[in-house]
Amino acid sequence: RDASPTQGRKSQGGNNSNQRCSSVVREVNRMKEQREKRRARQAEQLQEKDALRRNNPGNPNWEVSSMLRQYRSSLIFSPLRCVDPNGATVQQISVCVRKRPMSRKEENSKNLDIITVPSADSLIVHELRLKVDLTKFLEHHKFRFDYTFDEECSNALVYNHTARPLIKTMFEGGNATCFAYGQTGSGKTHTMGGESSERFRIAEPGSTPWQPGMSSRSFFEIYGTKVFDLLLPNKPMLRVLEDARQQVVVVGLTEMPVTKVEDVLRLIEHGSKERTSGQTSANAKSSRSHAVFQIALHMPDSWGPYGKCSFVDLAGNERGADTQSADRQTRIEGADINKSLLALKECIRALSRQSSHLPFRGSKLTQVLRDSFVGGKKNKTCMIAMISPSMSCVENTLNTLRYADRVKELIAKEDDIL
Ligand code: ADP
Ligand code: MG
Repeated sequence: RDASPTQGRKSQGGNNSNQRCSSVVREVNRMKEQREKRRARQAEQLQEKDALRRNNPGNPNWEVSSMLRQYRSSLIFSPLRCVDPNGATVQQISVCVRKRPMSRKEENSKNLDIITVPSADSLIVHELRLKVDLTKFLEHHKFRFDYTFDEECSNALVYNHTARPLIKTMFEGGNATCFAYGQTGSGKTHTMGGESSERFRIAEPGSTPWQPGMSSRSFFEIYGTKVFDLLLPNKPMLRVLEDARQQVVVVGLTEMPVTKVEDVLRLIEHGSKERTSGQTSANAKSSRSHAVFQIALHMPDSWGPYGKCSFVDLAGNERGADTQSADRQTRIEGADINKSLLALKECIRALSRQSSHLPFRGSKLTQVLRDSFVGGKKNKTCMIAMISPSMSCVENTLNTLRYADRVKELIAKEDDIL
């Protein structure tokens, strides 16, 4: 009788120590298993690295390439793919980014694609950095915009989310403006006036009582502080005047009636070829001017256009190389371009704030586009920042995205206040 409780206790105690024992054994086994797994993983990674090294003789980027692959494998992708014309939401000021595909030259030179577009409104730049002990690592810069278009997005898809809603604005009596911003070679002209671009479809189905004869188009270029007409053979220089009501007029600018979409496209292509391009150390044939294409709707017997739509192919924003250039002209051009891009940012900022102070005299570009930045909620602006995917362009790409980000950041703040 006496023994039984002791036995019971004993056996209980024995059970306890057995349990402790087995849990320690389990823990040791678990750790062993984990260690083995870790070793297997490390061996696998080493093997993979070795294979990469062997498969990429002379490719200095095999290590980065493997880091990129590893990072991307951890992401869930849902990029923008729908071409639904009504699928886009539009804000008064929208800022989007388009990544172009790698060019054949970039592929051949084993340049890496360091841009990831995981979703319809986000983007990551993987910048290669070195630690103090010279080991390589990637810094991941994350950005958010209204829309982010990856290299597989067509011009039609980009058009649907950017220009199409702007055309509507023009038919509603507002001024709509679309800017292509980015370094030379990033895809501005391809997006704004490329051969397959649908950009300038001005006949919106069922939209209006407007007849083709009631709309006109003009196309000019701003080079430094000078304006040239791109619709006339010798590209004559035009004067820009401001009247007492601060209305800005480009004197003598050719305005041609719009008849067919094809006409417009042909003219843009022709005009694009006529544009001023100079030799720079940054790029052999870079665009050093802003090209402005405008469509205006006119009411019979009324002064000034009813609504307007402007597409602006901005000069390349890469200016680092210019400051080192020995050529005085190149340096002046670079300074002019910088000035106009800064003024543009300030003007978009003023529009988002509905500010009464508009610093449009800051550059010829903003002066000529004054109408785009006044008139309150009726006006809409879209900026498409173009970026190259290539590792060699990372500095310019980050500059472009930071500029675009600041435009958007300011708008977000304004929205919070309103
Ligand atoms: P930018 O006007 O900014 O200097 P371009 O529009 O001339 O740049 O583009 C540079 C090159 O890249 C051109 O050969 C163009 O055809 C090509 N390209 C640009 N964007 C795309 C794209 N989204 N898809 C295919 N090719 C593109
Ligand atoms: Mg161009």
